[in-house]
Amino acid sequence: MSNYNWCHGPNCHTTETQSRVRGSGDNKVLRTIKIKLNRYGNYQNGIWNHFCNNRCLFDYIQTHIQSIVAIAPRSKALETPVKVVKEKYESSRYNWNGEGGPQRVPYQATRTIIKSVDNS
Ligand SMILES: [Zn+2]
Repeated sequence: MSNYNWCHGPNCHTTETQSRVRGSGDNKVLRTIKIKLNRYGNYQNGIWNHFCNNRCLFDYIQTHIQSIVAIAPRSKALETPVKVVKEKYESSRYNWNGEGGPQRVPYQATRTIIKSVDNS
């Protein structure tokens, strides 16, 4: 089993960087980047075992998006049950128009809290 992958970016081999130049004399080429497996551990589910950088990842997605979404189609919206709670709290703002510099003015503010619901 090999311990590397070739970058899957469809345009990886056209990007002009010194790291991609291979060959000698007048027979030089730009070659797809060779990626050492697990170079970032399991970071982002090993996605970086297949792409050398974000540009190659997004080029790949752009090229293959129809096939990718066909793997796991989403025909309707998903929903997560939650409770929405409005809560009043003391806050303050500054009045910058008064004499003697900015004045701190307290007021009753409202915040919205989204709480997950335990379905078990
Ligand atoms: Zn690449």
